Amino acid sequence: MDCRRCDAVCCRMSVTVMPSDSVPGYLLDTDEAGRTVMARNDEGWCAAIDPYHLRCTIYSQRPAICRQFDMGGDDCRLVRQDYRRQQHDLSTILSTF
Ligand code: SF4
Repeated sequence: MDCRRCDAVCCRMSVTVMPSDSVPGYLLDTDEAGRTVMARNDEGWCAAIDPYHLRCTIYSQRPAICRQFDMGGDDCRLVRQDYRRQQHDLSTILSTF
C-alpha cells in the first residue's frame, strides 16, 4: 500500500467526529442517525480535503478516527477496491458514448 499512489479514498468514508475532537464547525455535518460527522464535498470526499493535492487541510486538527485509521488494513483495502471498481464501471460507461 502506498498513499502516494492513492486518491485519498479513505477520505471518502464516513468520519464520525467525537466531542473531544476539535474540528472547525464549518466542516461538520449530521448524518441520518444524528451523529456528528465530517461534511462531504460534491464529489464525495471529506470537506477538509484539498481537492487539488488530495491532502488533509486540517491535518493537525483531524478527528481521532482519522488518526487511528489503519493504512493498509482491511478498511483501507476495501475502500480502495470499491473505488477502483467504481472508476472501472464509470470508464466502461463513458467508453460506450
Ligand atoms: S479530516 Fe482530513 S484525514 Fe480525516 S477524512 Fe477529512 S481530509 Fe481525510
